[in-house]
Amino acid sequence: MSESPTEFELIERWFADLGVADLARIALGVGDDCALLQPQAGEQLALSVDTLVAGVHFPHLADPALVARRALRVNLSDLAATGAQPVAFTLALTLPQVDVDWLSGFASGLAADAQQFGIRLIGGDTTRGEQLTLTLQVMGVVPAGAALLRAGARPGDCIAVSGELGAAAAAVALLERPASSLTAAEQALLTRYWLPEPRLALGQALRGIASAALDLSDGLAGDLSHILRHSGVGAELEEQALPRAAGATGPVPLAQALHGGDDYELCFTYAPGRAAEVAALGRQLGIAITDIGRITAQPGLFIHGRDAQRRALDARGYRHF
Ligand SMILES: [Mg+2]
Repeated sequence: MSESPTEFELIERWFADLGVADLARIALGVGDDCALLQPQAGEQLALSVDTLVAGVHFPHLADPALVARRALRVNLSDLAATGAQPVAFTLALTLPQVDVDWLSGFASGLAADAQQFGIRLIGGDTTRGEQLTLTLQVMGVVPAGAALLRAGARPGDCIAVSGELGAAAAAVALLERPASSLTAAEQALLTRYWLPEPRLALGQALRGIASAALDLSDGLAGDLSHILRHSGVGAELEEQALPRAAGATGPVPLAQALHGGDDYELCFTYAPGRAAEVAALGRQLGIAITDIGRITAQPGLFIHGRDAQRRALDARGYRHF
C-alpha cells in the first residue's frame, strides 16, 4: 500500500518544529536517523512510554486536539511523579488513513501543550494500520539519585494527594454525550478528563522532601497499593480527609474518589517533620495538598469511615470503557 507522499510531507511539516527546544540538552532533533540528547553532568534521564488506542482509551470521534493534549499530559504526569523536568518526546502514530483535518487538529493541540509545558518533539514514526493508535515516549532529566520513587515510604509518614479525586471518573460517563446536551458543570468535568494538569513543578519541588511518590492514573487505592508494595509498608486512610471533586450534582461518590482513574494528581508520602515545607509548597504553587492518612508498619490498606469503622480497602482500579 503506497501513501501519498505529499500527505506525508505535510505530516513532516507539522511535526518537524514542535515545542520548546532545550538547546543545552537536545543536540539533534527531528530529521536524522536518531535524535541526540545530551544530559548535563550529574543528571539522569527519566523515560516513560504510553500507548493510546482509539475506541479503547478515547472515543473514535474525539476532538483530535484534545486527544493530542491529553496524551502528552498523561505522559508528562509520569515525569512529574518522578520529579523530572521535561526535555523531549517521540511520537509514533498509526492511522487508518491520512485525514488531513484530523492530523492538523492533532498537531495544533500537541504544539500548544508542548509549548506550554516546555518539551520538544525530537522524532517519530507514522504507519498505516486498522486502529488509530498513538504512542508517546517522554524524556526528562533529574539530578542523579534525586528521582521520586515508589519505594521509600516509611511507617509514620504522612500520605498526601494534590488537587481533587474522582473528577475524571465522573466525566467518563459524559464522553459519548453530545456537547449541546451538557450542563456547565458537566462541561467542566469533561475538561478535567481531557486536560489533566501534570504536576511538574510540584514533583520537582518534592525532590528531597517526599519519601515516595507516583501519579494517580488508575485510582487512589490501586496506585497507593503500588507505593505500599514497593516500600514494604501498609497504610490507613481517613475517609473524611479525601478531597472529593465536585461532580455534576454534588461531591463524587466515595467509590470514584478511591477507585476512579485518570485524575493524574500526585500521591506522595513524607516524614511528619517535613509538614511545614509541604504546606509551604502548596501555597507557593497554588496547589491544594491534602493529607489523607498515614503509612503503617503493618501491611495492608485500610480506611477509617465516617462511622469510625476501619475497613480493608480493595485495591482494584476503576475500569472505564
Ligand atoms: Mg505513573
